[in-house]
Amino acid sequence: MAKKPTNEDCCSFCGRPASAAGVLLSGLNGMICHDCCEQAGKIFKEQYKAANAHKGYDPAAPIPAPAEIKAFLDQYVIGQDAAKRVLSVAVYNHYKRLRYNAEHGDKNEVEIEKSNIVMVGETGTGKTLLARTIARLLKVPFCIADATTLTEAGYVGDDVENVLVRLLQAADYDVEACERGIVFIDEIDKIARKSENTSITRDVSGEGVQQALLKLLEGADVNVPPEGGRKHPEQKMIKINTRNILFICGGAFDGIERAIGARLNSNVIGFKGDETRHELDRDNMLQYVQPMDLKKFGLIPELVGRFPVLTYLEPLDRDALRRILTEPKNALVKQYVELFKMDGVALEIEPAALDMVVDRAVEYKLGARGLRGIMEGIMTDLMFDLPQMPDGSAYTLTAEEVKKRLR
Ligand code: ADP
Repeated sequence: MAKKPTNEDCCSFCGRPASAAGVLLSGLNGMICHDCCEQAGKIFKEQYKAANAHKGYDPAAPIPAPAEIKAFLDQYVIGQDAAKRVLSVAVYNHYKRLRYNAEHGDKNEVEIEKSNIVMVGETGTGKTLLARTIARLLKVPFCIADATTLTEAGYVGDDVENVLVRLLQAADYDVEACERGIVFIDEIDKIARKSENTSITRDVSGEGVQQALLKLLEGADVNVPPEGGRKHPEQKMIKINTRNILFICGGAFDGIERAIGARLNSNVIGFKGDETRHELDRDNMLQYVQPMDLKKFGLIPELVGRFPVLTYLEPLDRDALRRILTEPKNALVKQYVELFKMDGVALEIEPAALDMVVDRAVEYKLGARGLRGIMEGIMTDLMFDLPQMPDGSAYTLTAEEVKKRLR
């Protein structure tokens, strides 16, 4: 702290004289500089946020039944009934588990285990959307991490623990809220052990990361640097217990169908008569996925064991893509209609125009993810001209127009 000169006003907080700190505000018994004001403002804001964050979560509220949870998911996610049912039960149990632990503290006679979840499904089929929608329902902090960016501590990349930093930030630094949050880890299949890996050093991207992740999943006290990044000795750490954090992982697991197929084929050997052989739905082998297939794919058994809930997402067909455009609560078409409405224009889109968008999305093989890009491509010019359209007018987007723009 700068030494207070006798004949100059100084900031009562940092001690800097006016010549160094600039304008000082004076109070009854002291003065404050611009920098200290700003710092104080930030502290107040953070405290306020922490105190008010996640007020929506009410530990005493009735636990929604699985059917209610599924009905909520139905508002946002099209299809994927199998995954929704499994997730609804897992979330229902997560709620109950939180309640049980809160009531029994550490004196639990029965340890209700966490229902961490793995979702297997092609990209753009709704894995992230499902996880995000669940967090919205639960009113708990939620964050998304990409497994491909994670590394073991000490390697270049994101330490696995930084996943918790993100959750803590999503919880506005409210540790208690963070400790009942949900983490969605995308592309979990990309940290699979690669059997052909002959490196004599440690496997940075694969098994090591799985081991590090295991610690978080198991439920441990983890010290995290509040700002993220690498830990260093002088840094203040925040302790987060991961016991009640729900981990939901998603991955496309490209090629896992082969392992599933091989397992199913070898299982049926030995059965007599065709009546025991169920007809396999070859177009959607993911529905038969079992934990052992994940192991075969390269996830270590300990990690697979930490994911008691395994479910799959179906590839989205034309019909599903078409419905996604218009039906969900925040469907793309509804969003554009609202955007136009704000400029006083009533937007209508011809059904045939939407069919054309779907055709293009099917062609791109990006699942529903492609829909947004295609729609943006069509709508951008229109929206550029939107403010010039007369207030109270109507605009119909025709198939002809879409065809022209897609070209
Ligand atoms: P991923 O399976 O790769 O995690 P996302 O959940 O991120 O896919 O989906 C990408 C986008 O596509 C979402 O933002 C959402 O708008 C849309 N989407 C994907 N699947 C569905 C679905 N089943 N119902 C409604 N929208 C979906």
